[in-house]
Amino acid sequence: MERLAWKPYCRPFRTPLQTAHGDWPLREGLIVRLEREGRVGYGEIAPLEDFGTETLVQAVEFLDARAEDDSLEPPPELVCTRFALDCAAGALETAPARPLHVAGLLPAGITAYAALQVLLDKGFTTFKWKIGVEPIEVERALCAELFKLLHGHGILRLDANAGLSREETEAWMAFLEDYPVEYLEQPLPPGEEAFMAALAGRYSVPVALDESLCGPGALERWSGLFPQGPFIVKPALIGRVEDYRAWRAFHPGVRVIYSSVFETAIGIENALRLAALDEHCAEAAGFGTLESFPHEDQLGWHTYGPSLTAGTLDAAACEELWKRL
Ligand SMILES: [Mg+2]
Repeated sequence: MERLAWKPYCRPFRTPLQTAHGDWPLREGLIVRLEREGRVGYGEIAPLEDFGTETLVQAVEFLDARAEDDSLEPPPELVCTRFALDCAAGALETAPARPLHVAGLLPAGITAYAALQVLLDKGFTTFKWKIGVEPIEVERALCAELFKLLHGHGILRLDANAGLSREETEAWMAFLEDYPVEYLEQPLPPGEEAFMAALAGRYSVPVALDESLCGPGALERWSGLFPQGPFIVKPALIGRVEDYRAWRAFHPGVRVIYSSVFETAIGIENALRLAALDEHCAEAAGFGTLESFPHEDQLGWHTYGPSLTAGTLDAAACEELWKRL
């Protein structure tokens, strides 16, 4: 016998997020609370519909049905709901308190330059910058300036959010040959994986997959074409925890970058725990989303910095957060 409850949240971003798909003003999601045999656990459903996850409406429909019949399991395509329920049921409880390096997130466009200076001063050494927002000539000129500022102090990742054309992707790859870039992330949309793998073979710059990895079976599907990755793994979107960990155990050579999706503290904590359980991962995690919400909304907990450790949000803190919703 279980008791399942959930509450919605709606968090306006500090400033609307600029992505290759346009402006994004607020983050909506659900916190799930599961009580079973005296144990209480929490999970977060934080969909990214642009990535092909379920919608919140689909998640709520499933939760309504599950509240009536606790033998129901989420269908595989409800990846966020599956992850949230697994977390709430205790799937990540054994995570060690291992500190993880964190990448600093730079805003798109010209403001990236000032932001990079601030993050360098705070001790960050890996940075991620969104491209595909301004015209390519403008972004390449700015990128060259970012590399100058970074020289000897750190490395840059570029994320195009599937917003480039094939020609632009190749132009970026050629340009980046001369710079200490860690990888170019998802230049082209899902469906273009073979083209991206071929480009990565011709240039020295790795091409990382992100948007391509959403949905059941995607990690397995692209492990052949991208045997070393890099794969951006967003724990909120992985689906069943056990299946993910089994995939990871069979592919220890794939570079995995754990990344957040603008979750509350509960989703962040669960993402950190999944990363902490991965002993093969030494990459800086993408948790630069922590600064995206005003502190007054009180749904955050972890302090954004060059390092984060799983386990700081304990059961009592989860309960307090739940009460605030
Ligand atoms: Mg990305």
